[in-house]
Amino acid sequence: MPFLIAIYLKACALIKTSYGCPYQCNFCFCKEITPYHARPIAEVIRELLTIKQEEVYIVDDDFLFDEKRLEKFIEEVKRHNIKKHYLVYGRADFIAKNDVLIGQLKEIGLSAVIVGIEAASQEELDSYNKKSLVTDNERAIAILQKYDIECYGTVILGIDWDKTHFDNLYAFIKKTGLIFVNLQPLTPMPGTGMLEAFSDQLIIPYKEHEKWDMAHLVVRPTRLSIRSYYLQILKLYYKITVTPSHIHYMFRRYGIATTMKLSIGAGKITWQYLKKIMKG
Ligand code: SF4
Repeated sequence: MPFLIAIYLKACALIKTSYGCPYQCNFCFCKEITPYHARPIAEVIRELLTIKQEEVYIVDDDFLFDEKRLEKFIEEVKRHNIKKHYLVYGRADFIAKNDVLIGQLKEIGLSAVIVGIEAASQEELDSYNKKSLVTDNERAIAILQKYDIECYGTVILGIDWDKTHFDNLYAFIKKTGLIFVNLQPLTPMPGTGMLEAFSDQLIIPYKEHEKWDMAHLVVRPTRLSIRSYYLQILKLYYKITVTPSHIHYMFRRYGIATTMKLSIGAGKITWQYLKKIMKG
């Protein structure tokens, strides 16, 4: 997520408070690596107390999972008077169901959540076994906006997408007011069973690991040419970000220096996409 790198370029500490994920989204390898295990909160707090940086990136696959554990976390952060800003991963359905808890997390420093929005249609969410609703996505974005917590939404672009699918996704993003979006063409990761299923449709061999970065198309799209597909991605990024309201938001929230840094990053990404479009 290039925007994260730019915004969190200042000294940022990483901490892992749990391993694995209890959900079973069929595209995701996180659940394959290890069974879910959460560290005791007392242990997490002890580690947090040793961290000097103010910005803390909690790299759990799903930090927002257990209400009771999060209540304990909030209580202990307050008791130890720990003053930090947190960036975490969390599911939309959890955020949608826990408005008050999200407000309490904001009070102790939650500043941003990476949310696997994945899709703007229920049919696609179901096909990924996401076990959440489009209305959860909408409500989660609204709750994070209400508490002024940044929402970084990740979306999977289907390999069977045509222009209409990209238009529908844009309509969803516009309707919800999502500011930061990471568009990821479906990538069949090993361990999920997808790699085998798509093995005869790969356009980038798995051994070229550096290109399996969720930004490259690794599976041949079925309805658009490779060029058109990349062009749709680039157009969508620009439709989302190059608007007066987006630019105004960025200046107001992050100031000129960070916005310029992000713009330079966006320019480099644009050039990468243009190369892909030209290469076809
Ligand atoms: S996508 Fe998120 S919620 Fe789903 S299995 Fe992976 S880490 Fe868990």
